Amino acid sequence: MNPDPGYTTLTGPSHNVNGADYAMMHDYTDDTDRLADEIVELARWRTRLDPIPLGTARTADELVELVGATITAEGIGGHQALAIFRDVLAPSCLSVDYTKYLSFVPAAPTEAAVLFDLVVGAFSIYGGSWIEGAGSTHAENEAIRWLADLAGLSSTAGGVFVPGGTIGNLSAMVGARGAAEQRLAEAGHPRPDRWAFVVSATAHSSIPSAAAVMDADLIAVQTDEQRRLTGDGVAAALEEHGHRVAGVVATAGATNLGVIDDLQSIGVVCRERGVFFHVDAAYGGAALAAPSVRPQFDGIEHADSIIIDPHKWLFAPFDCCALLWRDPDQARAVHAQHAGYLSFLDAYGDWNPSDFAIHLTRRARGLPFWFSLATYGTDAYAEAIQITLDLAIEAGRRIEAAPHLELVWEPTLSIVVFRRIGWDPDQYQAWTEAMLADGAAFVVPSRHDGEPVFRFCFVNPRTTVDQIDEIIDALA
Ligand SMILES: *Cc1c(COP(=O)(O)O)cnc(C)c1O
Repeated sequence: MNPDPGYTTLTGPSHNVNGADYAMMHDYTDDTDRLADEIVELARWRTRLDPIPLGTARTADELVELVGATITAEGIGGHQALAIFRDVLAPSCLSVDYTKYLSFVPAAPTEAAVLFDLVVGAFSIYGGSWIEGAGSTHAENEAIRWLADLAGLSSTAGGVFVPGGTIGNLSAMVGARGAAEQRLAEAGHPRPDRWAFVVSATAHSSIPSAAAVMDADLIAVQTDEQRRLTGDGVAAALEEHGHRVAGVVATAGATNLGVIDDLQSIGVVCRERGVFFHVDAAYGGAALAAPSVRPQFDGIEHADSIIIDPHKWLFAPFDCCALLWRDPDQARAVHAQHAGYLSFLDAYGDWNPSDFAIHLTRRARGLPFWFSLATYGTDAYAEAIQITLDLAIEAGRRIEAAPHLELVWEPTLSIVVFRRIGWDPDQYQAWTEAMLADGAAFVVPSRHDGEPVFRFCFVNPRTTVDQIDEIIDALA
């Protein structure tokens, strides 16, 4: 029955409930050992790879053709499955850490972070509760503390790592609603028929998505000439919508342009009126570590909650978003799940990570980020982030100097938005597809004020100025 001869070298079979040999999946055999070597070697090879290729997008039909059936009654064996992954599946994925992948928000995990990610799974850590994951939670909290300190949050602040900014924003907005409900109840006001959030017109797509999940409205406030949400705009919206407003969502590093809202004036308005203030810094929050741009974030210390994605610009592997709370007790009151089968955990309630977001079981996904921070130190982070900020400024200069291009927006953080003079949307699209097909770059068009534009987002300190020139030349 067993297609894999490796299993014949079992060191000692265990017995199942019926006393029969159990020798299929859970014994560590000589073959498992060989597979371990292959897996570690493959991970080592990928981590060392320089240059990293872009990879290819394939159609579903092509993959069916190339891969065939992998899930069978007998199993195809780990060696073959790994070979299929290495030879077909992995090259059919784009490498987000490819140095000329400048679309969306790329990623550039450190060597230590990706290698340690291999270990996190091996230890079968349940990252949801203190009693099951005290050690990993301690380490994650150290990383959370570093971020909270960068933001200027008090020593009582705390947080948790969630899969991404989308679930982070939703958890924060649900927390905001909980705080607003409590505030209204205490003041003797009735609960509104529908809750609303005051947001900037440039808020990330995950904000309307969260509002839809919550069946809440968004009050989109016009931004100033620098495309920033300001305290005045927020104050006017609060005046108009009163008790309906569950919270204000500002963005620190808007995805398209990198713009940071006027956190100082918004924070003051929220504080004065006791309105919950959430800052979506999923992309931009990393730049809190860069002294050259830190002043632009002034006011973030007023936030009641903040999200920052280490999987974007803090060199952690997917998926990892830090959700920070000014008042973790308030967050726990909203998010902790209660049931008889969980009550045991409450006795060890020092810090149960599952209490602070919409989740229960969780991977200790902050550990690769913690390990990398511990390995290289926070100065290395500040330096790597500054390199990418400098790259954006340099790219802006070169775009301004290129006769076929026009800079649309002075880079705020590490995002550069520009126009290819004379091209229609189809030409933008065709150029992107040709570059992808050649494995030469991944730069997709975006839109700005209804017009097609190109957009670079730099998070990879290995990207070089020569590579930027290559892309600029290819656009001629
Ligand atoms: C990327 C991003 C998000 C969403 O984060 P995910 O990790 O992709 O879910 C939210 N807000 C902003 C500003 C972002 O850049």
